[in-house]
Amino acid sequence: MYLNEMTEKNMSSIISNDWYQYMNYLSGGDNIINYSWRKKGMSKSEKKEIKNIFQEIDDLTGLTFKKTKKKNDDIRFFSVPEINETHKAEIFEATNPFPVEDLIVGRASARKDRIKIFFRDNDKKVTPLDKYVLRHEIGHALGLAHPDGDGANPDWNSSDTIMSYNVFEGSFFMYYGYTDIDKRALQQNWGLNPESYIGSIGRPEDIVEDITVPV
Ligand SMILES: [Zn+2]
Repeated sequence: MYLNEMTEKNMSSIISNDWYQYMNYLSGGDNIINYSWRKKGMSKSEKKEIKNIFQEIDDLTGLTFKKTKKKNDDIRFFSVPEINETHKAEIFEATNPFPVEDLIVGRASARKDRIKIFFRDNDKKVTPLDKYVLRHEIGHALGLAHPDGDGANPDWNSSDTIMSYNVFEGSFFMYYGYTDIDKRALQQNWGLNPESYIGSIGRPEDIVEDITVPV
């Protein structure tokens, strides 16, 4: 990848402190995030995809995800045939619907006791669009933002961040998963996975105390 001062994208452009703080509050600050789903409309392969995404983020960061009963959850998923105002957002996306193929395909909504994630789905399959929408909405729940506050920001596309709406090159849907910037932003919010710490960084050097002591 070619980067220079002019084109380098800054991780801070895709961090939302509001959403990060809210998720941290919901989870009780223990880096353990409980999740559930409404069973209606949720297929086996969609459940598996959600688990895969959480495993991916668990490997990357200090977060652990646990499937729980609904009343204990911090994130709840809903597979819905369409997204409308009953799924309204309360922090950001109320004024910022999600235009892919002129349809709203996903929404993250911060409620009183949890974040609800809605994704539009009419089949049992997991398409690249489903993979993108789930990762994008989970990104919001974990404190990621649209690039500089604008999903359609023309300086960014889905090869830069999953938080960009610019997912089409011509008629091709470009799916890249979480990018390097997304991964670093998630680690910035939630720290590194403790198991990857020594391997990636090594131990700090000894500190030799050299204090002048009067004799
Ligand atoms: Zn969004």
